[in-house]
Parts: sequence; structure tokens; C-alpha cells
Amino acid sequence: MEDLQPIILPGVSTQKPMIIAGPCSAETEEQVLTTARQLAAHGIKIFRAGIWKPRTKPGGFEGIGVEGLEWLKKVKAETGMYVATEVATKAHVEAAVAAGVDILWIGARTSANPFAMQEIADALVGIDAIVLVKNPVNPDLELWIGAMQRIYNAGVRRLGAIHRGFSSYGKHLYRNLPQWHIPMELGRRIPNLPIFCDPSHIGGKRELVAPLAQQAVDMGFEGLIIESHCDPDCAWSDKSQQVTPDVLNYILNMLVHRDTKQTTENLNILRQQIDQIDNELIEVLNKRMRISREIGQYKKEHSMQIVQIGRYDDIIKSRVKLAEEMGMSPDFMKDVLVAIHDESVRQQVQVFNDRTH
Ligand code: PEP
Ligand code: MN
Repeated sequence: MEDLQPIILPGVSTQKPMIIAGPCSAETEEQVLTTARQLAAHGIKIFRAGIWKPRTKPGGFEGIGVEGLEWLKKVKAETGMYVATEVATKAHVEAAVAAGVDILWIGARTSANPFAMQEIADALVGIDAIVLVKNPVNPDLELWIGAMQRIYNAGVRRLGAIHRGFSSYGKHLYRNLPQWHIPMELGRRIPNLPIFCDPSHIGGKRELVAPLAQQAVDMGFEGLIIESHCDPDCAWSDKSQQVTPDVLNYILNMLVHRDTKQTTENLNILRQQIDQIDNELIEVLNKRMRISREIGQYKKEHSMQIVQIGRYDDIIKSRVKLAEEMGMSPDFMKDVLVAIHDESVRQQVQVFNDRTH
């Protein structure tokens, strides 16, 4: 995807981050226009609103449908903002393009489905659209890239990604876990791909929008897509994560744009230290694996099984406790230990299978 084109819209600042804002869903003409007017008054240039809403369960608000496209047309005519909406089928693409929607985005439930992605891609052939692809609900970078490749293969060159976090089972601080390393890896794999961050869907709560937006800015994301509603408490979908246009304006004004030049020198010194520490970490891990292989040899000679649950449990518990005392998150430490243990087991299995000893 080397020939991707930057997303440049006349009248929209090319300074990062590019801001897209608007309600989760278009509900009524009045709600759409009131929100749009307030956002426009704060200088927002790109308006989002979901017309077709993929809901987890039937019975929730599933979007107003094509009627809402007329309201988006009014937003454009009255405020001059560009408009963006979610598409999930061929019919959505055709209706949105016919209504002059400037940016199409593909939702997380759709990008996880290659059939749906291909249908959308086929509908986009010959259309000079701007398309943003949200990450699939599951943390699968290849699936995300594959979804974008389908759109790219249809001829779309103004293509971008939106990081909206990943679902996981159970209750967490975030509605969708950020797993920042995944969008970072995406940026490494496709360097010229603009990546937006959606702090609203990652956080799921109003109070998390500002810190997540700041983190995204610090990490160099191209833009932010933020849900904003004229009356969030009465929103028909995602009400706990939407902010009023005034609050959004406050959040955007509070964002700190780090001066990259001034900080790079100190940063380089710190990065050298990190490089050194990573080397040491790899050496230490290798030492641990060597000993683990020796243990594997011993277990083999004494016909013992590889994994002893009691020992495994002790390792996890004692290390997690220690890490927590040092200020690291127990979840993080557990993930690290499980990964180390998996590799250790893999290497011991190799020892077991090695018939030369
Ligand atoms: C949305 O943007 O309102 C939406 C449905 O998001 P996602 O696909 O990320 O859940
Ligand atoms: Mn939403």
C-alpha cells in the first residue's frame, strides 16, 4: 500500500490531530443539527454520525437509516462541515455516496468479517471515497490489515485506520482494551497509513476521553474521532461516553502538543538506555531458557511430566506480588510470566522429543 494518499480536506488544518466529532447516532433532525451547529461554532470541521448502527443485541436503537442522510446534507449545507458515517453493506455505501457523505468508516463488527469487507470493497470500485477502517473487535492485526487491503484493492487510496480498542470478556477499566502496541505495529507495517484514535469507544466513559486523547496525541496518532452529543444523558446509544460540544472543546484545548524538537535530545539518551536494558532482558531470558532446558533434561531422565501445576502457581503468585510491590500492574506481570512459561514449556518439549539425548 505504498501509494496511499494523505487525507487532505480543503479548509481542514493539516496539523495533527485531525478532529472528527459528532454523535454516536443520528437520532432526530433537531439533535443532529443542534450538535452540528455547536461543534461548528467550536471550529470542528468534520462531523460524524451513525445512520446505521450495528447493535450487540436486537431491540437497541439500530439507526435512523436513509432518512438521516438528509440531515447530514443539511449539516453540510448549513455549517460547511464535512460529514462522515458508518457503512456496513453495499446498500449503505451506495446511499451514503449518493448523499455526498465525505468520509465512510467501517465499524469494528464489520471489519472482523471478510465477506462484509469484500462486499463493501466491491461497492467502492470506481468511487473516489475517503475510507477509515476501524480495527476488528478482536485483537487481530492481520485481519485489520486484510480488511484495509480489500478496500485498497478496490482502488481507494485515501485510506485510514481507526483504533477503537479490543473487546475482552469481563469488566475492565476500559470498555475496549487499548492494546496500544497493535496500532503501533500497524503504523510500523504501513508507515504512510493515517491512524486515528477513537477514545470514546476505547474508554466507554466520559472521564476517560481526555486522558486517552492525550495519550493518542503523545503517540503521534494522525487524528481523533470523538463522540459528541448536544444532550449526552439522553443519547439513544453510547450515552455514557459522549460529551457535549462544549466539553469536547475544553478537552481539545487542554491537549498538550509536545514540542518534538526540544525533547528529542533527552529522548535519544533515554532510548539508548532502553535499548541497553532490552538487550539485557533478552540475555537474562536466554539464560533462564538454558536452565529450563536443563530442567527438561532432568525431567526426561526421571520420567517426570513437564508442567507441574503447583510449581507454576507458586511462580506466578510470588512474582506477581513482587512486581506489584514495585508498582507494576499484576495483569501485566501475569501476561509476561505466562508468555515466558509458554516458551519454557515449548523448549522443554523440544528436549523431550530430542532422541539424540
Ligand atoms: C461507532 O463509531 O459509533 C461504532 C459503532 O463504533 P465501533 O464500530 O468502534 O464499535
Ligand atoms: Mn458509538
